[in-house]
Amino acid sequence: MASNGVLDARERSATLARLASERFDVLVIGGGVTGAGAALDAASRGLRVALVEARDLASGTSSRSSKLIHGGLRYLEQFDFKLVYEALHERDLLVAKLAPHLVKPVSFLYPLYRKVVERPYVGAGLALYDAMEGTRRPVPHHRHLTARGALRLAPALSTERLAGAMRYYDAQVDDARYTLTVARTAATHSAVVATRVSAVSLVRGPDGVRVTGARVRDEETGRLLEVSAEVVVVCAGVWTDLVHELAGVRAGYRVRMSKGVHIVVPRSAVRADTGLIVRTDKSVLFFIPWGERWIVGTTDTDFSGDRAEPGVSAEDVDYILAAANRVLVRPLTRADVIAVYAGLRPLVEAVGEVNGAKGVKGAKPTTKVSREHVVDAPVPGLVSVAGGKFTTYRLMARDVVDAAVADLGHSVPSSVTEQLPLLGADGLAGVRAGAARLAEDYRVPPDVVEHLLSRYGTLAGEVLDLIRADPGLAQPLADGHPYLRAEVAYAVTHENALHVEDVLMRRMRLFIESADSGTGVAESVASIMGRLLGWSRRRRAAETRRYLELVAAEQTTPAVGGSAVGSGAAVPDAVLPGAAAVLAGVAAAG
Ligand SMILES: Cc1cc2nc3c(=O)[nH]c(=O)nc-3n(C[C@H](O)[C@H](O)[C@H](O)COP(=O)(O)OP(=O)(O)OC[C@H]3O[C@@H](n4cnc5c(N)ncnc54)[C@H](O)[C@@H]3O)c2cc1C
Repeated sequence: MASNGVLDARERSATLARLASERFDVLVIGGGVTGAGAALDAASRGLRVALVEARDLASGTSSRSSKLIHGGLRYLEQFDFKLVYEALHERDLLVAKLAPHLVKPVSFLYPLYRKVVERPYVGAGLALYDAMEGTRRPVPHHRHLTARGALRLAPALSTERLAGAMRYYDAQVDDARYTLTVARTAATHSAVVATRVSAVSLVRGPDGVRVTGARVRDEETGRLLEVSAEVVVVCAGVWTDLVHELAGVRAGYRVRMSKGVHIVVPRSAVRADTGLIVRTDKSVLFFIPWGERWIVGTTDTDFSGDRAEPGVSAEDVDYILAAANRVLVRPLTRADVIAVYAGLRPLVEAVGEVNGAKGVKGAKPTTKVSREHVVDAPVPGLVSVAGGKFTTYRLMARDVVDAAVADLGHSVPSSVTEQLPLLGADGLAGVRAGAARLAEDYRVPPDVVEHLLSRYGTLAGEVLDLIRADPGLAQPLADGHPYLRAEVAYAVTHENALHVEDVLMRRMRLFIESADSGTGVAESVASIMGRLLGWSRRRRAAETRRYLELVAAEQTTPAVGGSAVGSGAAVPDAVLPGAAAVLAGVAAAG
């Protein structure tokens, strides 16, 4: 039985009732891109699937990445050819077939500063990068540029020592929206998707060994439920070791956390018509075009603090500013920073070749730890996957579901996700071609239709239907941003948004795109959501306040954790300027 892929937050009780009453073939723990991918992989093979996510879909690392779908040029230098080859294949599959509405080509300029040594080296790397991609390429080939050619594309570059540049292409994505879309596509194959439901312990069968499900807690009410499944699939990212501990098992790998911070600055602060990638002492720094802004990052430092709130320190920000300013003619300052965010890379390190798990040994610097993934089956009825990259999530999902199928012990078809466009992708060319007509029919400006197509693909009409039913929803949500009030309503009725932060941090990206992190519209969001979810005035105020507090916590210096490498400057940890305003807002609201 296929459903329509609607995740309606108003039907949460029915979803929880299904979790408790049905018996599943596969229970996935974790609703990041890997877990959503595993749910889709398993459900599209005809298995009965449930997914539980402790917070919101993509609330972990999967909304905090650099948002690139890429082969990973720098992994060539580490001779990680298999990873680059697979990732390039995935990139092209996503751009051309599986999600062309969400995954879009983006160009990068690689400035060269040592002409004689660097051009042949980088040129050979890019030629290999392009060659690995094969002949059917949805993104253009790389090109050599002179210094003058580079400056024409990127006047922001300092001319000092600039010897030329290379231009190449990768792809970018709204990572949180992508994850949500994978989960919704899994729901079209009848997967049951429940958020704010955490696995708190694993259930063993009569033999006391085999895992037969999980005890889960509804985080909204504290109620405990038991979910029965033939196999439990752990896709918990940096929480993986903790979930293994819940089961009392020793896996063949452990997850090492590496923090990566990004800053967001206005597009006008860096004059360039292309993304930039520049070398740093340890790795590379990206300037990634993001609408009217740039995302600049990232750092790569060991982390051991609170997984839920990695936090950004002033030192992290100053490190990125210093690395950026090495190549810019007009330096960036803290005053340019609109927003900051931090994420944790789940890197795998083998603790021995137990259970057949394969991984990387040794305490290397986090920049040098492989981004390949590891699948493990530590005990019957339990499999897990960790590591990898956003770009290779589909392969991780396929591999862990293969391991689950081996455990099931009966015949199940092979993965079909290579053939399965995500929700909103099928028929996109036709809907795009008819965009002007759509705008006329729904009496909205053409740029509104364009905006909706780029976020929902062929499902844009569902958002427009909400506007037709309630024309007030056609109004923009926030000045200077393209989001509509209708998208808040849609987030509740189709995308399972339960709280204000689900909307402002992940369904739309005002948290990282707006100088006030979206706090100025939190009340409006609570009001639109409240109408649909039956919230009292008091509840709306509480939801608004909860968002303000969360923003303040995300943007301030963490109490524990690693510190950014490489800045060298003794910058005192401090609350960032943007966050100070937010904290003032919290005080006022309180
Ligand atoms: C700074 C940074 C930049 C990056 N940039 C890129 C990039 O440009 N391109 C790329 O390909 N990759 C990139 N990555 C890597 C990529 O983002 C990650 O590999 C990927 O998002 C990991 O997804 P995941 O689903 O495995 O983990 P997560 O997204 O963290 O998902 C795990 C989920 O499990 C849930 N969970 C945990 N415990 C429980 C429990 N007990 N019960 C229920 N749920 C639970 C968590 O709440 C979480 O949502 C980047 C990573 C970082 C940190």
